[in-house]
Amino acid sequence: MEFMVSLYLNQMKMRSWGELRRDLKTFYENAYYTAFSIFSLKGGLTLEFEIKDRDAGARLGRFKVKGRVVETPLFLPVYNPNIPVITPNEMKEKYGFKAIMTNAYIIYKNEVLRDKALKEGIHGLLNFDGVVFTDSGAYQSFKGKLELRQEEIVKFQENIGVDVGVMLDVPSRGESFEECRESVIETAKRGEEWSTLRAREEIAWEGVIQGGAYPELLELSCKLMSKFDFDIFAVGVPPKYWMSYDFELIAIQGLNSRMNISPEKPLHAFGMGNPLVLSLLVAIGYDVFDSASYAIYAKDGRYMTEWGVKRIEELDYLPCDCPVCLSMDVGELKIMAREERVKFLARHNLYMILREMNAIKQAIRENRLWELVQQRARAHPKLLESLIRVFKDGWNYFKAVDPIRKRAALFYSGEETTLRPELKRALERVKERLGCDRIPSALSETYPFGQSILKSGILNFDGKSYDDLEKIRIIADYQFGSEVGSKLIPEDVFIEKSKRTGRIRRIWIGDTLIGALRPSDGFISLSLEGALRLKKILQPPKYRVYVSGNDKLIQMVKSGGDVFSRFVAKCDLEIVPKEEVIVVDQNDSLLAVGQAVLAGFEMGRFRRGVAVKVRKGVEE
Ligand SMILES: [Zn+2]
Repeated sequence: MEFMVSLYLNQMKMRSWGELRRDLKTFYENAYYTAFSIFSLKGGLTLEFEIKDRDAGARLGRFKVKGRVVETPLFLPVYNPNIPVITPNEMKEKYGFKAIMTNAYIIYKNEVLRDKALKEGIHGLLNFDGVVFTDSGAYQSFKGKLELRQEEIVKFQENIGVDVGVMLDVPSRGESFEECRESVIETAKRGEEWSTLRAREEIAWEGVIQGGAYPELLELSCKLMSKFDFDIFAVGVPPKYWMSYDFELIAIQGLNSRMNISPEKPLHAFGMGNPLVLSLLVAIGYDVFDSASYAIYAKDGRYMTEWGVKRIEELDYLPCDCPVCLSMDVGELKIMAREERVKFLARHNLYMILREMNAIKQAIRENRLWELVQQRARAHPKLLESLIRVFKDGWNYFKAVDPIRKRAALFYSGEETTLRPELKRALERVKERLGCDRIPSALSETYPFGQSILKSGILNFDGKSYDDLEKIRIIADYQFGSEVGSKLIPEDVFIEKSKRTGRIRRIWIGDTLIGALRPSDGFISLSLEGALRLKKILQPPKYRVYVSGNDKLIQMVKSGGDVFSRFVAKCDLEIVPKEEVIVVDQNDSLLAVGQAVLAGFEMGRFRRGVAVKVRKGVEE
């Protein structure tokens, strides 16, 4: 089998892209797919990722490796044991980094370090008890120094007890389509080889996606690499891209990789440590970053800020309140001995990255990540261009994963605001579900229309006045689909309004509650009775999540327990996070009503974490 796969990959190199694509389809449908799906069941996967909160394409999540839990988005400061600037211990104690990255190849090549690592383990060598990721040295091959077989470095990473290792990929220089394709195919062969070398189950491994910024090659690479049991996928960013500030190519690489690998797999951007670009990369769905930029910039006399990297000669002030800047005078800094200055700059730069990561995580919590990205994009025209490209190329993806309603208002933050997925999707729904060109005033309190502060002319309301029944029916159509409103909410309902604000609060049929209107975003929250009515109106599987499992599990959901992703048998694939959903058993009998945490296409694919937060179970 192994021989056959390698032979196949060799043949692929000789074909045109069109032929290759056609072939690939047959390839999956035949031997390769069958053999490797059996293989996949055999290999135990070490790491399970779960989403806790989200915004844009970003995932605030967590995973556990060797008993240690880390939160994503995760930044790994890179430590080079040959050129120590900030020790791993200081990274942990002063900055709170629970995970770092170092290079297994550098340790392997240095006899003293190698012996110590083999004797004391990587954690002993680094004097660090957090999570250690190690790179394998593939990047060093750019410099032509590499004489390394994958077997040596995979075994070495296992022998020194790393937490997360990286396969030895074949990087590309991002020069041409052919050169990138070569690297995709050679890396896939290495992936196959890796799967025969891996011996220790507790170590998590990263597989590497190649393909430059060519969407079709990235797709090919993701499909090939997904056949192996990697825990995380890392994207090989050709140095050429970041050296020339080509953020657009970097973003397109990330976006296409994210769209083509399982949502359950964390995605790692190799070597990305410029704080300017981190928020954009998180927004497209990158989960892990590593970089030595804080130290590399420091050696070059450069100081990171939120609006770009400055040379210290340019600085008359230190625009930062980190502990090292507060205790430093800018005049002193300029005349400081080089070695001391490098230490100062490295410490400041690392604080800067930490602050940006915290700002990003807080923005996800508040659902205003796109606005943070838009602000950062003002620091460099190339960054703004890449954001616009990301909005366009990622539209179908963001439409599926960006939450349907948000905690924060949508603020106008520049021309590209009209490309924001929340806004485009909402306007598309008005057209498709309500058949209107202009937004009915009935939606003037519903997200995002009621919560947006935009330039005039972006939102065009029809200016008509609607009575309460018409209003609530239009909201139901917007939320659940064409013509749902008139069936869900009959003529004889009682609409309860707030005495204080005069706004609609609850909808009743006689003494039975159908639903309530959420004051913050104007969406309908269904009662069980409302969910039953909706289920009768909508054809399966619309807005449904089907749970499978034993009686005990079904009983838990009926009593109001959340639905875990791994118990989702199937669902409406078009469900968007934060949508109101109906939870049913395999026979389409109602179990509960709640809100989606995952997108429909993600449900069942995550082995850990909640797919639907249940508000009310039928036997509660
Ligand atoms: Zn500072």
